[in-house]
Amino acid sequence: MEKTCTEVWNSCLQIIKDNIPNQSFKTWFEPISALKLEGKVLTIQVPSLFFYEWLEEHYVGLLRKTVKKQLGDEGRLEYNIVVDKSSGTGSPYTTNMPSNGNGAEAKTQSMPIPVSINKDIKNPFIIPGLKKLNVDPQLNPNYTFDNYIEGDCNRLARSAGYAVAAKPGGTSFNPLMIYGGVGLGKTHLAQAIGNEIKRNMSDKLVIYVSCEKFCQQFVDSLKNNTINDFVNFYQAMDVIIMDDVHNFAGKEKTQDIFFHIFNHLHQSGKQVILTSDKAPKDLAGLEERLLSRFKWGLSADLQVPDLETRVAILKKKMYADGIELPGEVVEYVAHNIDNNVRELEGAMVSLLAQSTLNKKDIDLALAKQMLKNFIKNTSKEISMEYIQKLVCEYFEVPVDMVKSQTRKREIVQARQISMYLSKSHTKSSLKTIGAFFGGRDHSTVIYACQTVEDLIETDKKFKAYVNDIQKKLKMS
Ligand code: ADP
Ligand code: MG
Repeated sequence: MEKTCTEVWNSCLQIIKDNIPNQSFKTWFEPISALKLEGKVLTIQVPSLFFYEWLEEHYVGLLRKTVKKQLGDEGRLEYNIVVDKSSGTGSPYTTNMPSNGNGAEAKTQSMPIPVSINKDIKNPFIIPGLKKLNVDPQLNPNYTFDNYIEGDCNRLARSAGYAVAAKPGGTSFNPLMIYGGVGLGKTHLAQAIGNEIKRNMSDKLVIYVSCEKFCQQFVDSLKNNTINDFVNFYQAMDVIIMDDVHNFAGKEKTQDIFFHIFNHLHQSGKQVILTSDKAPKDLAGLEERLLSRFKWGLSADLQVPDLETRVAILKKKMYADGIELPGEVVEYVAHNIDNNVRELEGAMVSLLAQSTLNKKDIDLALAKQMLKNFIKNTSKEISMEYIQKLVCEYFEVPVDMVKSQTRKREIVQARQISMYLSKSHTKSSLKTIGAFFGGRDHSTVIYACQTVEDLIETDKKFKAYVNDIQKKLKMS
């Protein structure tokens, strides 16, 4: 007796189940149903175009083998893809696709497929059950172009962002990749683009999502068997802003999904905006095919702002918060905190907090005192006296002993380390150092430095002491 399509497909499923992880089976094969068997052609129904692409990409070999096993060498597989209709009336319609793994005579799969979006698609950002596709873009309204200060450090990225905001999907900056170090304004700029688009084109579907959150949502959707909703949601967007894509590193499955979403959006002329802490070419742990797409559009970097821009950023922030600081304080802060904007703002906030707590106006002296913790590599001279004090405190030996003639072990050690640090942290000559530490000559200093270097190499504990003291030196 002829087998029915369901019987054939169930036999296929038995084999497939034994060959792939259970989770994958549940995700990708359980939602499939057998539709018909005509001669040697088995047609299966898959819930979406995305499913079809995924199966063809990841399981085509396995599918081919199992179908041939059931139906003989002539066995063929076809997909029937459910395509949701946006009209909201009637049931979804379907479209048929051949499998690419059908052998020599397989057709290419470049036929256009009408895809439209069901109004009921689920939004992973909102509580399930809430209907209608009214997407909260997840943007912070405080991040705008208006309060994003322009400088040499960000000119290209800012103007590219502006162009993208004016014509999302309509420039060659797609994707727009904004990259740069921590706290340099990537998130601010990326969100400013989103806010600007919403301001001018409120009907555009814009979504901001951190890479981390996206990965989490993906894992959840696997768990809940809602992968299809997850993908549909993102593929329905006009603009996707994905923050910190370096966090994709090592997450192969999520990269795979994003690859498909990216392709879909890009092909349909939708805008993709990415941020990353490194240039695409330096991103480690990302699949090559994803990286190559990241390079398709424009990569623009953010540099550390120069002094002028830092002052402007501080002033803008003060103005926005309705506060005033003396010019010399602003300059002092901007001058000394020169590695990132977030720290710059952090320093100002803590200044304000301190002054409110102490009910004191902020003047330069107060600023200097309070910012000690923020300012790391001050180039102020470290004195031998100070080194001596630190070392002696550290080893709990009396300060004047170091200068004495005693040869007690712990004193000798403190003396030698003091000499070594004086050599490396001050501009004093060997002669001056020797003279300072109890009228010794320069060869004693050379010997001390040599001894300390040897001990650092061979004695872990000793090395830790020296490192500790050095840290304290730098913090002062
Ligand atoms: P990143 O995402 O690169 O780590 P953020 O975008 O979070 O950095 O920026 C850190 C802080 O610095 C934010 O408060 C942001 O508003 C501010 N900032 C960065 N660049 C600028 C700029 N050019 N003008 C005004 N504020 C800025
Ligand atoms: Mg950020």
